[in-house]
Amino acid sequence: MTVTVRFAPSPTGHIHIGNARTALFNWLFARKNNGRFVLRFDDTDVERSRKEYAEGIVRDLAWLGIEPDETVAQSARFERYDAAAERLKAAGLLYPCYETPEELERRRKIRLSRRLPPVYGREALKLTKAETEAFEAEGRKPHWRFLLPNFSENPFSTERTEVHWNDVVRGPQTVDLASMSDPVLIRADGTYLYTLPSVVDDIDLGISHVIRGDDHVTNTGAQIAIFRALGAEPPAFGHHNLLTTVSGEGLSKRTGALSIASLREAGVEAMAVASLAVLIGTSENVVAAADMNELAALFVPEATSKSAAKFDPAELDVLSRHLLQAMPFEQAEQRLSALGIQGENARAFWVAVQGNLDRMSDAGIWWNIVHDQPDPAGELSTDDREFVQQAAAHLPAEPWDQDTWRDWTNAVKAASGRKGKALFMPLRIALTGRASGPELSGLLPLLGRAETQARLA
Ligand code: GLU
Repeated sequence: MTVTVRFAPSPTGHIHIGNARTALFNWLFARKNNGRFVLRFDDTDVERSRKEYAEGIVRDLAWLGIEPDETVAQSARFERYDAAAERLKAAGLLYPCYETPEELERRRKIRLSRRLPPVYGREALKLTKAETEAFEAEGRKPHWRFLLPNFSENPFSTERTEVHWNDVVRGPQTVDLASMSDPVLIRADGTYLYTLPSVVDDIDLGISHVIRGDDHVTNTGAQIAIFRALGAEPPAFGHHNLLTTVSGEGLSKRTGALSIASLREAGVEAMAVASLAVLIGTSENVVAAADMNELAALFVPEATSKSAAKFDPAELDVLSRHLLQAMPFEQAEQRLSALGIQGENARAFWVAVQGNLDRMSDAGIWWNIVHDQPDPAGELSTDDREFVQQAAAHLPAEPWDQDTWRDWTNAVKAASGRKGKALFMPLRIALTGRASGPELSGLLPLLGRAETQARLA
């Protein structure tokens, strides 16, 4: 069997790191099993779904390194859902209900007061033809519920009906169908809730593994029953824990701050986002994986914890720095070139500055400092200005290499008697305009003797 997974976002907003977690769990699972990855847009809500959001999701996934093998939209598949609904209706498994929300709430309270589970009592199954006609004459439109297989003879006498599955992430799971209400599959306005279309798509697209957030665990019980009612073997399921903000709130597509797009725009490394999205809330240490192969090797679905995991954006900065520090020039080359960093010095420059970058874009700042002029912010006292001028006299002859800085400052130290910060800081400020930055042993050969001398003057 070919492993086929799907990531099924609704294009009603920007995806965030929690959605990226679901996408990556699926992507890495497919990769590890030579499988296929389907991107499915759950856009049955035509009012709220937007093309721009769908395009944004494709872009965000590509940035994270995910290229779907196939992309489908639910909005193009209504005929399939209608056919499935007809099939269920014909089998007596999808039945019309006319209750208003107020009526349902009243009944729920009554059941609770009688110490009965607050589930739907299937009263609609008792409606006579005359009652139904009366509702229709009133202009009431039915919503449609799926009759859960949680009884043997009499639907009003439900019995414990366990649905079991061996969850790819959580291990053995059990849901009791008698503890649930028959799910509404079609609203009174004729629109589909996500439950049925998702099952129809999973069947049609040959989905072998449904991996999604653990907010869907109960759904899974009902959906397994729907798969069977439609004559299909259910796929395997996996439910990962959800991410929350540091203060424990759920992430929402509507709070744009932690969106993948905003992290990309802020210059966070894609692999920092991917690594954190996958490894947080697992028993694996969070480390910055350099690429998808490395991340796939660290991805162990069963190592995922069962409780929600707090996501701290500050960790992304640490991981981004680690990635930049360890990034080979070949991997950085194209992005450096886009920042105007190219030519024969580009490699040596990268090696000199990469240990000091928070963001790739900082490389552009250092390139300007090396090639144009020191940061204008750097001011020296009269004493220090005199000191650096005298230091210029000790500059060794070229060619310069990694040892030149040490040789030069040793000579300056001997001549001036200065040491430590008093020795190094004025030189650093004169050369770069900044009190901190990459090791000067790396920068000095890039500046060259003439430029260094000019900056000390
Ligand atoms: N559109 C659904 C969601 O975002 C998909 C759930 C699923 O993967 O089945 O929650």
